[in-house]
Amino acid sequence: MQLDVLAFGAHPDDVELFAGGTMAKMAALGYSTGIVDMTRGELGTRGTAALRRHEAAKAAEILRVKVRENLGLSDGEVSVTPQARLKVIRLLRKYRPQLVLTHYWDDRHPDHAHTSRLVAEAVHHSGLAKIKTRQERHRPRIILYFKIPPHTIPSFIVDVSDHIEQRTAAIAAHRSQLFDPSSREPSTTLSQPDFLTHVETIHSFYGTLIGKKKGEAFHIKGILEIKDPVLHFR
Ligand SMILES: [Zn+2]
Repeated sequence: MQLDVLAFGAHPDDVELFAGGTMAKMAALGYSTGIVDMTRGELGTRGTAALRRHEAAKAAEILRVKVRENLGLSDGEVSVTPQARLKVIRLLRKYRPQLVLTHYWDDRHPDHAHTSRLVAEAVHHSGLAKIKTRQERHRPRIILYFKIPPHTIPSFIVDVSDHIEQRTAAIAAHRSQLFDPSSREPSTTLSQPDFLTHVETIHSFYGTLIGKKKGEAFHIKGILEIKDPVLHFR
């Protein structure tokens, strides 16, 4: 199956949290989308790998992604190795996306930072004919980096105002990670009562920057080309 968009997150809830609205919007526009989780999130303080797999499948359904795969790398140990890179290359050549989404490289969580580098290297190497996987080579056109740090100006912002309910429901599908007054598991940043409000505030901020209700920000390496300025700014 060929996909238009493939998003890579280190843990099963990352894509939902940082690009869930964009994934929902692209599916609504008729593009075929997919998510790859690098790990099963088994090192997470709350929930189990099995529960998280179930939650991730539910979130994928809500975002209408056609494919959700898990690379099975070790949570907390995501590293840029030739073996891990090859796993990503196989998926890129299998699904042949034009757009790849992943974490911004400057992130204090080592798994996020390493996922970013791993995906960027795989996107490049996937286009090299001499890297053999018994598949045709394929290099996606661009990587859109999400969860950009506060000091980095977005390259662009996607208006996701019409897809907030879907994104919220997809995030809520990861129930084991979020605030639950009846839970006896240890608390984490995500499980704080205010966490979802903070997420919403960031997206309101990005939305405000483009005069919309909610937005998701992305960074690209290089400068964004506009083919037709009149059409673009009309
Ligand atoms: Zn994560």
